[in-house]
Parts: sequence; C-alpha cells; structure tokens
Amino acid sequence: MLIDTHCHLYYEDLKNDIYNVINRASDLGVNKFICVSTNLNDAEECIELAKNFEPIWATAGIHPHDAKSAPIKFENKLKSLLNNKKIVAVGEIGLDYFRGLTDQKIQKKYFRKQLEIAAEMDLPIVFHNREADEDIISILSDFPGLKGVAHCFSSTIETAEKLIELGFLISFSGNLTFKNSKLPEVASKISLRNLLVETDSPYLSPTPFRGKPNEPARVRYVAEKLADINNCTLEEVAKRTSENAIKLFKIV
Ligand SMILES: [Zn+2]
Ligand SMILES: [Zn+2]
Repeated sequence: MLIDTHCHLYYEDLKNDIYNVINRASDLGVNKFICVSTNLNDAEECIELAKNFEPIWATAGIHPHDAKSAPIKFENKLKSLLNNKKIVAVGEIGLDYFRGLTDQKIQKKYFRKQLEIAAEMDLPIVFHNREADEDIISILSDFPGLKGVAHCFSSTIETAEKLIELGFLISFSGNLTFKNSKLPEVASKISLRNLLVETDSPYLSPTPFRGKPNEPARVRYVAEKLADINNCTLEEVAKRTSENAIKLFKIV
C-alpha cells in the first residue's frame, strides 16, 4: 500500500473525476490520500471530500501565497475547521521566497500563528518551503515537540538533516524523478525511516508524465525512484513510507 500524503483533490479536473482518480490509484497500489488545503475556502472542500470518501483525509491551513488575501482574524475559523474528525494536520503552511507572492513579513506572521495553533491543538503540520531554509529552520526551532512534514522537499541535505533533527519528516514528490535533478543524491542520504511520498497533484507530474496534469496514482513513480535510489524493493518503500504516514497523521 502507498499513501499519497499531499494532493489537492479539489481542483476541478480531479474532483469531477474523483471515482476514476481513486480507482486508477488503487490499480497502482495507492490506497490513501491526504487532501491538502491552501486557504480556508478550499479547506472546506477538502473536508467535504474526506467526508464523502473513506480513503481521503484532509488538512486545513493558509499557504504562504494565500496569506496576502487571507482574513486578518482567521484563528477561530481555522480552529473550527481543524476540529473536524477527518482533519489530520495543519497545512499547507510555510514560506515561499521563490515566487514571493506575499510579503515575507506577512508570510512569517501567518506561519507562526498557525504553528501556535498546531501546537495548541496537538496536530502535525504540512509545510511548504521554497528558498526560505534559514527562516523555516529558525522559526520551527521555536516550536520544540511539533511534528510534521517538509512537503515537496527541494533543498539541500544539510537542511534535511536539520529538519529531521527537529523531528520532521521529509517528503519527496515527482521532482525527485526529473532528469538532472540533484534530489536523488539528497534522498540517498536520508533513511526511509524519515521519508514520505506525495504527488502534489495536480502539479509536478513525475517522469514520464512531466508537464501533464498529475494525479495520486503517480505517487507510485516517486516510490519506485526511491526504491531505485535505496537499492531496495518498491514493497519496502511502500511499507516504510506508509507506516511513517500512518503514525504521523494518525490515520487507520
Ligand atoms: Zn506546496
Ligand atoms: Zn501542495
């Protein structure tokens, strides 16, 4: 069994075809899905999908890109969403200095406030980091004991090691399979004990589907790449990463 720990199933093309999306995933051994929100509105859609489909779980949180248009007082609304039974994490939250759609100060403010809520509600976090390694590590260091995952990891091995030391898992997506990617080298130095796999659907389709819309079934290709890198079987990667996901998100 494989778990796609990060997909955005509320995008029209996925949502309108959800039965087939789930069936195609199941054909490739992908049986559980974490539907990740990026703002308070799509969090409701994630929860709705999770309510209607047993193998889907949901997160609620405000993405750094969405922080610029998020309500200033979002805490109560977010907390009430997080109280839903099928919510498994606060996310995706984080910092994105690459696209920089939101002022860095505002990004940091929303990140910190949501980390406080995660700590208070004892929930893991799903975080996004583009070119913000230093600030991510420094802010997360202020929240000892917090668990979570560095989603779509694309930084250096030094950053991965620091995050693991802080208690976080590292998740790879389709970009692990891209030609000329430096990530296989990074992945080869991380124990399966600390890894998750994801698609980030509909983005980041793995090779050989690069450039096409992605879907959860293709987390299989990410796992195959990890098996290749670790010189082990796909079953081993599936078992270890699924155990990690089940433990982190407390799903059954
Ligand atoms: Zn992201
Ligand atoms: Zn995402």
